[in-house]
Amino acid sequence: MPDDELIDAAVEWLAEMRVCPQCATRIRFGDYECPHCGADLEDALREWAGSLVAELQSKEG
Ligand SMILES: [Zn+2]
Repeated sequence: MPDDELIDAAVEWLAEMRVCPQCATRIRFGDYECPHCGADLEDALREWAGSLVAELQSKEG
């Protein structure tokens, strides 16, 4: 798979909406805590990033 396709996949993943696990407030990429309830989002961020890596690895085949 060409790099452009991997980049497209990553961009789509970045644009995917995420929500706070505590209060379901929408979270923007790069937020480490919820702007609404202050929940620490690092674990959720790492989990989400791990899914991205798995997605890219599966596309890379
Ligand atoms: Zn929250």
